[in-house]
Amino acid sequence: MNEHIQKLIELQELDLHIAQLRRQVDAFPQQLAEIERSSEAARAALAAAKQRVLDLHKDRKKHELDIEDWRGKIRKYRDQVMQVKSNDAYRALQEEIRGAETELGKAEDRLLEQMVGGEQAEKDVKQAEAALAEAETAARSAREKVKAEQAQVEKEMAEMQAASQARLAELPQDLVDHYHRIARRHGGIAVAAVRDEACSMCSVRIRPHVMQLLRQSEGQEIFHCETCTRILYFLEKPAPPAEAAPEAHAAETGNP
Ligand SMILES: [Zn+2]
Repeated sequence: MNEHIQKLIELQELDLHIAQLRRQVDAFPQQLAEIERSSEAARAALAAAKQRVLDLHKDRKKHELDIEDWRGKIRKYRDQVMQVKSNDAYRALQEEIRGAETELGKAEDRLLEQMVGGEQAEKDVKQAEAALAEAETAARSAREKVKAEQAQVEKEMAEMQAASQARLAELPQDLVDHYHRIARRHGGIAVAAVRDEACSMCSVRIRPHVMQLLRQSEGQEIFHCETCTRILYFLEKPAPPAEAAPEAHAAETGNP
């Protein structure tokens, strides 16, 4: 095989691997953003629970003022009762007192209800705080996992890029340019193996005389697929293994 072809095959393997690693690298910010979002619902639930406590506190103040108000009215009517001269006025005031007492009772009921609701709201806040802490712990460990993976992938990509640069330095510039032109048009695959006398990438048959030359070629000549234009290389099929069923054998003895 053309000595350059072997290096191009290695270069292509490295470049495909780098492209795959780059897709992983590009996906990390999205993954991290999703982790941030995962605790947002818990944070919003806690804010809502705290707001409910504040609202109930305001309601409570209002009910307490109502109660004071009705008690004040009742005191005032009772003072007036002492001073009335006529039975009619007396009855009218008694009526006002009964009405105010009814309203006072209602206001006290509302306050009691509010206090029960307030206790539940405080419990809800505690529960929401615990849920948020749990969500944040989960997010922290997920974030650490992604960051470790990210560091690992970036390290691997840097190594692959260095190896790719080294291959590039060993190849003639015009061949590198040629390789890159074809790779750009064909999803990063510029070099294709010939299998069963056809291009392995587009499946089009290779002409017999080209096959002949590919089999013989030890020189510098480079052959292209006539259909997809990729650079072709040919590897003789390795001899079939002497023992045909090593896997079946392993399965028999592998299980205890
Ligand atoms: Zn082809």
